[in-house]
Amino acid sequence: MVTYLCPVCAFFMDDPPDDYNICPCCGTEFGNHDVNTSIENLRITWLRRGANWWSPVDAAPVNWDPYEQLNRLISAPSGGFFGVNPLMFGVAGQKQIGKGAELAQLAA
Ligand SMILES: [Zn+2]
Repeated sequence: MVTYLCPVCAFFMDDPPDDYNICPCCGTEFGNHDVNTSIENLRITWLRRGANWWSPVDAAPVNWDPYEQLNRLISAPSGGFFGVNPLMFGVAGQKQIGKGAELAQLAA
């Protein structure tokens, strides 16, 4: 089964993050919400609102942890991400997005 990594929240989506597909986790509609703002801003907004599960239709995975999930975006070989300060994502976001895109390609 092919899965795609949401570049905003790192959830594994069934559909690629474009063509108006909506991530059930963070609620980002790709091709709409990400047109006039950056992926980093969308992620920070999601985190500041509590990193809640978005979809009223699809249930969150059992034992779902948004911060654990975000570790998928971390490329640091020496350990990864140890805090939950949303500002850190803004600072390091670009590198993480690159990694996320790589992962998405691998998954495809
Ligand atoms: Zn998402």
